[in-house]
Amino acid sequence: MLPLTIALSKGRILEEVLPLLARAGIEPAENPLESRKLVIATSLPDVNLVIIRAADVPTYVQYGAADLGVAGKDVLMEYGGDGLYELLDLKIAACRLMVAEPARLAERDDPRQWTRLRIATKYPMTTRRHFADKGIQTDIIKLYGSMELAPLVGLCDRIVDLVGTGKTLRANGLVEVEHIANISAWLVANKASMKMKHAPLKGLVQRLGQAAGG
Ligand code: ATP
Ligand code: MG
Repeated sequence: MLPLTIALSKGRILEEVLPLLARAGIEPAENPLESRKLVIATSLPDVNLVIIRAADVPTYVQYGAADLGVAGKDVLMEYGGDGLYELLDLKIAACRLMVAEPARLAERDDPRQWTRLRIATKYPMTTRRHFADKGIQTDIIKLYGSMELAPLVGLCDRIVDLVGTGKTLRANGLVEVEHIANISAWLVANKASMKMKHAPLKGLVQRLGQAAGG
């Protein structure tokens, strides 16, 4: 059989995807949460895992360095394009992409009056597209993390960020003012692999679909 590679990212997705893989009969040869190895064999012969940064998963899959990958919808929306197949919603790592601002600003703010916004975010493309569709101009400040800090230190008034429980927002005096998208992790596939390795990939995708409860 041709070897198959699945790209996963450390962090929240890995924690939730490992039980799903186990239900699909895929047990890593060593625990990726602890191991420093970036390529990990599994209980299925010819199925390997590669462990990479969350935002790099679409790139590995589009260029065929991995046949399959698990990526957050946030990352896929930001990556854009039609370079890979979004096969199925695994319904894990669920959260939402939101606009948030300081509670004291929200008291007198009306999103229907927005015409131009200065926004800090890890998601510049998605943010620009969301507001452009509504005729709102954006000055976007790209950050790589800790978006909640930006309004507190005067970098901007508003942020676009993922919200799970809302605890981090609340702890920093921020409130959600607009919903952009519901987010969960998706199984994605390389387009050429879906043709060249059709039979083994179809089997694997079916197992993962059943494990995800679909
Ligand atoms: P890195 O740490 O490598 O920069 P990252 O910070 O994006 O990557 P995580 O915080 O683990 O890594 O997020 C990875 C993915 O997990 C996100 O792209 C998103 O799909 C999902 N995720 C992020 N935050 C939450 C949350 N609060 N609740 C549920 N899922 C989340
Ligand atoms: Mg992180």
